[in-house]
Amino acid sequence: MSATATKYSRVMLKISGEALMGDQGYGLHPPTVARIAEEVKSVRDLGVEICMVIGGGNIFRGLQGSAQGMERTTADYMGMLATVMNALAMQSALEAIGVFTRVISAIPMDQVCEPYIRRRAVRHLEKKRVCIFAAGTGNPYFTTDTAATLRASEMACQAIFKGTKVDGVYDKDPKKHGDARRYDHVTYDEVLEK
Ligand code: UDP
Repeated sequence: MSATATKYSRVMLKISGEALMGDQGYGLHPPTVARIAEEVKSVRDLGVEICMVIGGGNIFRGLQGSAQGMERTTADYMGMLATVMNALAMQSALEAIGVFTRVISAIPMDQVCEPYIRRRAVRHLEKKRVCIFAAGTGNPYFTTDTAATLRASEMACQAIFKGTKVDGVYDKDPKKHGDARRYDHVTYDEVLEK
């Protein structure tokens, strides 16, 4: 099947780090990483060009570190490094099933992966390589959700998909509040007002 048969030809998939830890409380669960890789492959096989951003919350979140007394920007850089580990794990799982992949880091680390160069990343996508954007935006005080929207815009993705532990946008944390309300539709202005 060619990409013309699919609704989107280039997409961003954002996965939270926690999605990779399976039922464990921490770290990576290789069968879960492999299962997600299979799902990515099935979409790639339709001809869709795939960008990925993977969070780092299964290993380290900057806010946790700073709550424990660590300097915030240092803690955030540790969080960004955690996303690189997750990206490498996903690359390994994808390449094990024959999907060519590039890990592209916002923080240059040439011995480990490619630095982010927009036009080069676009070329990888055109060659049907899955691009995993690692190290977030490269800046502290952001999250990988920001990185996913930034890279999706730069790569001209037509849609962003988010694989996370909640099934939508709520007015409060549905795990903590039984009366949390899920929005079917929400605008940017509504979010600012509420
Ligand atoms: N982070 C950052 N800048 C970025 C992206 C991420 O400082 O552009 C840090 C931040 O500390 C964050 C951590 O990396 O807590 C892991 O990312 P995130 O919390 O988004 O992971 P997820 O919740 O998706 O697993």
